[in-house]
Amino acid sequence: MEPKRIAILGSTGSIGRSTLDVIERFPGRFQVVALAARSNLEALAEQARRFRPALVAIGSEADAARLRHDLGSPSAWGAPATSARGQEAPEVLHGEEGLLACASHSEVDLVVAAIVGAAGLAPVYEAVRRGRVVALANKEALVAAGPLMTAKARETGSILLPVDSEHNALHQCLRAGAPAEVARLILTASGGPFFGRAAGDLGGITVEEALNHPTWQMGRKITIDSATLMNKGLEVIEAHHLFNVPPDRIEVVIHPQSIVHSMVEFVDGSIICQMSRTDMRHPILYALTWPERWISPLPRLDLLEAGGLSFHPPDGAAFRCLHLGYEALRAGGTMPAVLNAANEVAVAAFLDRRVGFFDIPGVIETVMSRHAPEADPTLEGVLAADTWARTEAQEVLLRGLPAFRRTST
Ligand code: NAD
Ligand code: MG
Repeated sequence: MEPKRIAILGSTGSIGRSTLDVIERFPGRFQVVALAARSNLEALAEQARRFRPALVAIGSEADAARLRHDLGSPSAWGAPATSARGQEAPEVLHGEEGLLACASHSEVDLVVAAIVGAAGLAPVYEAVRRGRVVALANKEALVAAGPLMTAKARETGSILLPVDSEHNALHQCLRAGAPAEVARLILTASGGPFFGRAAGDLGGITVEEALNHPTWQMGRKITIDSATLMNKGLEVIEAHHLFNVPPDRIEVVIHPQSIVHSMVEFVDGSIICQMSRTDMRHPILYALTWPERWISPLPRLDLLEAGGLSFHPPDGAAFRCLHLGYEALRAGGTMPAVLNAANEVAVAAFLDRRVGFFDIPGVIETVMSRHAPEADPTLEGVLAADTWARTEAQEVLLRGLPAFRRTST
């Protein structure tokens, strides 16, 4: 059997590294053709030596030059070269051009989209435009441009396979019935480190406390999103676009053990759930091997060890970001792109200790309240709304939140 040929956008991140870990466990079954990352030069060089892709992309031109030197690649203009170890050295590109080249490489069967944030939008759209199978971790791309992505995928035959654990679970549960038989989607949320705290009890939270997730080890941005529940707000939007279910039939329950990754209730009242260990390599393996299932070498879930499973309602007053996600989805057009961009700016400001944890929803809400969404935007329209929201969010941070939106002490 020919190996599946893979491109990984965001290969040095949490999802990117887990993907390579899965690939390494199936010798001869996968071939890594392209790797892209922003700035972690040493890690990317190490991955390139190990997996021997044909193409590598990094953010800056200076880093690309260093990478070519380290890997023995040809200069940007030179003839093909071989590395010191005698193997063919990869082509090295940089910036947007590099990302798009990885996303559209002609010898790739499956693109793993594991960039964080709206930076992944253009390359994911490019992969969809080329009709590729996309293993999608980069939820922000779908949140910002859902209707564009799904319409283009229908046109080109591209398939979006969710890597996000909840959507991956839903993808599996939906195999149990027809689309018309689905009553509702039930997304589970761990609740993050502050589950159970009341609204008045969330002031003065430090970056370290917010980064200390109880069940998942992830990149910094999504870890903060999990603590504010914005992650679940984004995931409601993601689920809507992936599975074409209206917002009032997508529900969220807090499930602190993170064993049930999501559920589908069918019209006859049966609820089908998907369970596995709290390890992103499970959904990654499913997406990499779909439509087949391969025998997994990963540790399996021990139900007796897992113990009790509990489910609780989310606290909308303490975690307003979840509600903002629903609001943006219902407003439609460019509003989800604005929600996402304002959130990215607010989370970066929190990580820089420029704004309090509980002011994150306030920043987003203020920016959303100033936006008149454009219906049915083009990709350019989405990108323009993203840029507008970032500028607006920076301005809110600079001038301070309107008094009525201040919630932290
Ligand atoms: P991360 O911060 O660990 O990694 C991000 C990767 O993207 C890095 O390789 C980085 O170099 C690359 N990157 C970022 N900006 C880039 C740019 N402008 N150009 C090129 N490369 C760029 O993030 P992560 O936790 O792996 O998350 C990746 C995506 O997967 C996010 O959208 C996140 O919401 C989603 N996701 C992650 C998890 C998880 O367990 N980590 C779970 C579900 C969904
Ligand atoms: Mg998730």
